[in-house]
Amino acid sequence: MSTVPTLTLNNGVVIPQLGFGVYQVDPAETKDATLAALEVGYRHIDTAEMYGNEAGVGEAIRASGIDRSEIFVTSKLNNGFHRRDDALKAFDGTLDELKSDYVDLFLIHWPLPTTDVDYVETWKALEEIAATGRAKAIGVSNFQPAHLQRLLDETGTVPAVNQIEVHPYLVNDEVRAFGEQHGIVTEAWSPIAQGKVLDDPTLTEIAERVGKSTAQVTLRWHVQRGDVIFPKSVTRKRVEENFDLFDFELTDADVTAITALDKGERTGPDPDTFDYIPS
Ligand code: NDP
Repeated sequence: MSTVPTLTLNNGVVIPQLGFGVYQVDPAETKDATLAALEVGYRHIDTAEMYGNEAGVGEAIRASGIDRSEIFVTSKLNNGFHRRDDALKAFDGTLDELKSDYVDLFLIHWPLPTTDVDYVETWKALEEIAATGRAKAIGVSNFQPAHLQRLLDETGTVPAVNQIEVHPYLVNDEVRAFGEQHGIVTEAWSPIAQGKVLDDPTLTEIAERVGKSTAQVTLRWHVQRGDVIFPKSVTRKRVEENFDLFDFELTDADVTAITALDKGERTGPDPDTFDYIPS
């Protein structure tokens, strides 16, 4: 079995660099999909209240027989709950769904900078949660440097991670560099751009040369850049493939060539304007 490297977050918490994401996994299938990932060897699961499948993740963890302490679980605060009291209540809801008394990492899912809620207030609520020990680490998702700067200026805790869209067609290096400068680990969501990069000729050439798939080459590129990733798949063969990244290495020239594929092309919303709040 591959050994997944770990990173140490700015508060000392250790996170596996490779995990399993469950966005768009049907809540009814989440238990089985997560169990399959745990069987393959994944020990890091990325879910969110917005995905509606935290309960399935919790069921899989309990059914796996693996000690809870060996699995790193992240969840995220949904967009309707940015005010302090709502955030505290929503966090309790997340623990209820997971049937766990803690999460390893809890994130603000989106900053919603154009709405009438203020992510600084939300961040202070997450600081309160962290102080109770029920979130071992706290962080943010989809924060741009200006949003992060406000947290640095106006609060006492530097986010442990910023989970943002990163893949070869959106390398997002400006946001990553800001994180690196301030000790914030970047987590790269949609690491294979939901499959959109997989037929790219540059990736295909490298994949043929190293004897791996284009998905594996892309995921390995993220690992060598130092980001945390959690590819999603409900297909057992792909779940195994995405875990098999640690017996080969890309050259510096390969990493540079993949980074040069950047087209600033998002698969998801723009964090500066995204204002979706579920009713
Ligand atoms: P990914 O980039 O992980 O791509 C998932 C898609 O690619 C699925 O359609 C899957 O198909 C397919 N796939 C997976 N592995 C392979 C492979 N080896 N070969 C070919 N196709 C493959 O996209 P996601 O958007 O799911 O991102 C990953 C995770 O990031 C999410 O699950 C979530 O945890 C997180 N995320 C966070 C966001 C945020 O705002 N914070 C936003 C979006 C994602 P199939 O399942 O059918 O096998």
